[in-house]
Amino acid sequence: MQTIGRPTRPDSDAAAGGFASLTGGRGLVQSEPLIFELGGWNKTGVDLEPPAQDAADLDGLTRDELALPGLSEPETMRHYVRLSQLNHAIDLALYPLGSCTMKHNPRLNEKAARMAGFADLHPLQPVSTTQGALALMDRLAHWLKTLTGMPAVALSPKAGAHGELCGLLCIKAAHEAAGQGHRKVVLVPTSAHGTNPATAAFVGYTVTEIAQTADGRVDLADLEAKLGPDVAAIMVTNPNTCGLFERDIVEISRLTHAAGAYFYCDGANFNAIVGRVKPGDLGVDAMHINLHKTFSTPHGGGGPGAGPVVLSQALAPFAPAPWLVSGPEGLALVEEARGEAAQAFGRMCAFQGQMGMFVRAYAYMRSHGADGLRQVAEDAVLNANYIKARLSDVMSPAFPEGPCMHEALFDDAWLEGTGVTTLDFAKAMIDEGFHPMTMYFPLVVHGAMLIEPTETESRRELDRFCEALRALAATAKLGEVERFKGAPFLAPLRRLDETLAARKPKLAWRPEPGTVAPAPLAAE
Ligand SMILES: *Cc1c(COP(=O)(O)O)cnc(C)c1O
Repeated sequence: MQTIGRPTRPDSDAAAGGFASLTGGRGLVQSEPLIFELGGWNKTGVDLEPPAQDAADLDGLTRDELALPGLSEPETMRHYVRLSQLNHAIDLALYPLGSCTMKHNPRLNEKAARMAGFADLHPLQPVSTTQGALALMDRLAHWLKTLTGMPAVALSPKAGAHGELCGLLCIKAAHEAAGQGHRKVVLVPTSAHGTNPATAAFVGYTVTEIAQTADGRVDLADLEAKLGPDVAAIMVTNPNTCGLFERDIVEISRLTHAAGAYFYCDGANFNAIVGRVKPGDLGVDAMHINLHKTFSTPHGGGGPGAGPVVLSQALAPFAPAPWLVSGPEGLALVEEARGEAAQAFGRMCAFQGQMGMFVRAYAYMRSHGADGLRQVAEDAVLNANYIKARLSDVMSPAFPEGPCMHEALFDDAWLEGTGVTTLDFAKAMIDEGFHPMTMYFPLVVHGAMLIEPTETESRRELDRFCEALRALAATAKLGEVERFKGAPFLAPLRRLDETLAARKPKLAWRPEPGTVAPAPLAAE
């Protein structure tokens, strides 16, 4: 069996129930090796003419033989469907990950994004032929500005973290233009998402942490003490990563501006306040909006994503190209740093951003309307509070006082003395059919378990989830430690060394040492 790279077959030793599958399959789910291990090197799934060997018109470039497995159509189909069954998906069940938001990608959005006029666009097409797409971007920009109460938006950043980079580059350009380039410090609360300090460091800033109060908010006194003539910006998430609204947000913004710094708001949690709070009213200067969190576009396994950044009047002149302008010929994209675009700090990416995500986010906004989006926020908060209320007697909420926003945060105090850790508990959830919640984040809460149901979960689904967690909690307190330490027992793969996988990923397949590398398809 293949031993390099990830194991592709489940352990067969310890399946719960006392007996193990002989083949690694289980309950109509088949174990599935990598496509390279399936063999088929001397087969091909399609009949193609042998390629012409004459490469004169390609300046002598000839094609090397590629060692690719050749599977038939049904074999290929089954391979990928089986792989997909080894994975979990938002279309299967509740995905309680906190700080990640959307658990549903409406089919209407997919239908709109697949319309040929959007899906088949080429970014170098003449603008006279892309007026519909530009109009959609213009409407999306309009609603992002309206919902946030901000005057400008840069659509091109491709993720939340990329939006943070865009916002901080605007801030840096604005300070430099004002002769304030010596400001080199960015203040970040201890509960911040890791992308915040990472972005600030990437831009060349020094990061200083702001302390947190016992009830999970920014410590105003500490902020005030650290604000000074060297501070370029603060980065604050609101609602914050503890799932709490920053009560003093207006004061935070006032103090920041009084010190000559800008207020970058991490808008990843906008879902909890959309339609109810306009960040512009709170004094925010720049904020990214993860379209995959607030506006239902898919979390694309790392991409393609979209993280537009809304900007205040002060930062708008520094926004990156391109942006839309409307003229006598219709809509056009400003691409060059000339005229009114002269202060743009540059650009974030080639072309205009992720069109497919723009279409989906716009479809989502239009299908909800302004009142529907407000209800999204209300229902997301209601669902999180329902979970908090239903679990608070068996688990320990990190901030028991008062309601939470869109996420219910628990610590591991309730597991003390049981021998079960947050990690063990999360793994045992897999055996109950539930994807674990976010663990050990935010870092300021010991053994954190961050649960974000979002607005799309029904009462029935929330009840099933809470019942499963209550049953597991009771089991942990009864001392059935083995059930947790060995979990998951029922997943296709058992407990993985995630640290090793992250630190030393094996991304390339190589034949096992000593075996013959597969022969390339022989050209007939
Ligand atoms: C998700 C998230 C980010 C990063 O956004 P990406 O789109 O994943 O790059 C930043 N901050 C917070 C609070 C988040 O939840």
